[in-house]
Amino acid sequence: MDLILPQDINYSCQGCGKCCSGWSVGMTMADYANVKDTDWQSLHPALAGKALFIDRQAEFEAGTSQYPFFTNPTQDNVCPFLIDDLCFIHGLLGADKKPMACQIFPYAFAETPAGVYAGVYYSSKAAVRNMGVPLSEQKQVLQDYLDLSYKYHNERHTNFSVDAVEGTKKTPFDTIALTPACQLTWQEYSHFENRAMQLIKEQYVDQKPEGYQGDIFRTLAMLSELVLIARNIKTAGADLSQLAQYQPTNKIPADTTMSSVEHMTLRMLFYRYYIYPQVRAKDARQGRQKRADSLKSQNLMGTLMAFGKFAGGGLDTIVSGKPNIENLGKVDLEKAMDAPFAAIDPEITILFHRWLYLKLFLKTYFGPAAAGFSVLSGINNITAALLCVILHGKASAMAAGKNSLLLPQAYENLWRLDRELLTLSQIAQQESRIYNSGLSAPRLFNKGIHALEKSFQKQ
Ligand code: SF4
Repeated sequence: MDLILPQDINYSCQGCGKCCSGWSVGMTMADYANVKDTDWQSLHPALAGKALFIDRQAEFEAGTSQYPFFTNPTQDNVCPFLIDDLCFIHGLLGADKKPMACQIFPYAFAETPAGVYAGVYYSSKAAVRNMGVPLSEQKQVLQDYLDLSYKYHNERHTNFSVDAVEGTKKTPFDTIALTPACQLTWQEYSHFENRAMQLIKEQYVDQKPEGYQGDIFRTLAMLSELVLIARNIKTAGADLSQLAQYQPTNKIPADTTMSSVEHMTLRMLFYRYYIYPQVRAKDARQGRQKRADSLKSQNLMGTLMAFGKFAGGGLDTIVSGKPNIENLGKVDLEKAMDAPFAAIDPEITILFHRWLYLKLFLKTYFGPAAAGFSVLSGINNITAALLCVILHGKASAMAAGKNSLLLPQAYENLWRLDRELLTLSQIAQQESRIYNSGLSAPRLFNKGIHALEKSFQKQ
């Protein structure tokens, strides 16, 4: 299948080690066989006495875990094999003995009827900064990683398998849910994606040209409008190719006061992307405990304490709108929303557009890589996600006595966000149904987009 490469997207590993934090790496049986016979604990003081792997074979057999084994992160939520920012497995046994997911990451692929789209996740600091060799010049490297990806998916043999296997005709994108109730063929979806990509590319440039005036709020509003129009065209039985001529009106509502549903959903997503990971990291030990063991008497107190922290963090964020952010303290999301700020730095606007471009190009905002979201839910989700990045950036700047978004903070917030979005592919089906239906109102965040837009000066 043809490999389709993105434009102006660069990546080369800079050895930041950040890909190796924030999660347990899923391991296939073959991955585990590569490392199980090494006496790791005797080889480095940092590994001594540590349980390095989590055994999920029983759950894997029962179909409730995607992998039979996982790496067991440290209390700081970093892979135990990351020592001095280098992978100890790689150093001792060679790159090909690392878990396959690590070998491929942060490269990512989406197999579609038109070919295989290649890109990177922003969970690496080099990727988020667009550092390294353009992917368009890495065709052979990417082809090798794609071959490894096929091998990886063949070895997983899970009930969750969502990716096509080379040689078969079916791909995860043969049929696409525009909304939970409206299915598109790949061809029909392509009309939506082509127009959406055009709208993004009108404002996404690699280097800032003289007089650049990109506007992220305008882009988000236009994408939301485009999904609604696509749905209307499809439900009217008309041809989606007419989207090529559609020019979104981008009409700003006279009243930008968010409805309670919009408010709550945005706060819930803020909690999911920025507060829940803190709680999860603090309770990493608890999180790694088998769910079935959580209610055993010896674990009950820990389970209750963990639940209290989850619930407390959730109430602070979702009900009060005042989350407690690590290294920042309590912030008031309402105040952050309304606080007058200087115009967004063009470099940040380009960064946001580049991220949007990659999400659409790689098709990681909906479908298998995003909890099975429909296109509508996916667009709403990435819209809310960027609003959360901006809100977090405003809160951080305000805490530092500033009134402008800072580029380093935007990198950090987007890096954290993309990592969390990636974990959506691993959530349970019931949870994904809740997200999917909660996010399936057209233009769900339309007022939020414009309310936040109003708080920034125009360039
Ligand atoms: S196994 Fe190695 S590459 Fe994979 S997460 Fe751990 S340190 Fe990083």
